[in-house]
Amino acid sequence: MKIAAITGIRQAEITERPDPKAQASWAVVKIHSAPMCTEFKMFTDGEKSSCIGHEASGEIIECGAGASVKKGDRVVVQPLYACGQCKMCFSGNFILCEHQLSPEPIAGNDRVCGTYAQYIAKPDHLLTALPDDISYDHGAMACCGLGPTFGAMECMRLEAYETILIAGLGPVGLGGVINASHRGARVIGLDANPYRASLARQLGAEIVINPADNAAAQIKDFTKGNGVDCAIDASGVPAAQRLLLDSLRRGGKMTFVGEAKEFNIHISNDMIRKSIILAGSWHYNILGYPKVLDVIRRNTGRLDKLITHHLPLSRVVEGWEIQLTGKCGKIVLHPWE
Ligand SMILES: [Zn+2]
Ligand SMILES: [Zn+2]
Repeated sequence: MKIAAITGIRQAEITERPDPKAQASWAVVKIHSAPMCTEFKMFTDGEKSSCIGHEASGEIIECGAGASVKKGDRVVVQPLYACGQCKMCFSGNFILCEHQLSPEPIAGNDRVCGTYAQYIAKPDHLLTALPDDISYDHGAMACCGLGPTFGAMECMRLEAYETILIAGLGPVGLGGVINASHRGARVIGLDANPYRASLARQLGAEIVINPADNAAAQIKDFTKGNGVDCAIDASGVPAAQRLLLDSLRRGGKMTFVGEAKEFNIHISNDMIRKSIILAGSWHYNILGYPKVLDVIRRNTGRLDKLITHHLPLSRVVEGWEIQLTGKCGKIVLHPWE
């Protein structure tokens, strides 16, 4: 099979690997859609790897004897390799499993763990059924396109009548605009990139504020002095995180989904006196998957706008270069074109 591999700083190649095998409860998926996520950071850092990508949808072509899925099933490929047997896994929090399986011995091939490839092998519990009425491209948005912000909104129980401030309108934050609009909430976006601000408005943001443009006052004004009910940081930028925290109303809720390092919090002023709830959310509990499918089914027009580019796997470098310009929503790779 063909896979993409990073070979140096801003260098990559398409190379051949043996096809993965299905054993035990594992299955092999022929990948039809592989959305691009944060792998561009590996590309710019020159982090040599042939195990790239963690989002996909496709069709099962081969099953191990103990698999609960069958050949021909359409599926969304969930990230990582959760064990399926621990307390986290039994509660649906596969993403939080601390007993990750090693794919290599089961798939019979080293370096088969990425989705920037024609096939991937996964345990059956990480292959969620994709109904026939949802396209592979839209189904693949049940990964990072919609997943992290869906998890954050479940955590905050965001509902209609509420306002939510979303910082960082990259592919994850833009998916958050769709999720929040779907729930009926009023969305305030925060991003300096005009392309992404425009796209966020098309996806349902009522207003998009440039952080350099007196943002705190604009947010206060929009919420009639109350502050926002909820906030999501998808930017990972400390200045944006501070602005979000300061923009929360008393008793408000904020969730971090953008990868970041330290952030200073004043326990009394930020937390106790405001009695806010701060959370972190990586992905979502798989029990919420039917709800994510509902978001997908009822927002097909928005998803077609969120997915700004389709590229064959052979043009992966072009995809990364587009991501680095910031002039894109979600880019989807197609390994068989
Ligand atoms: Zn587990
Ligand atoms: Zn991702």
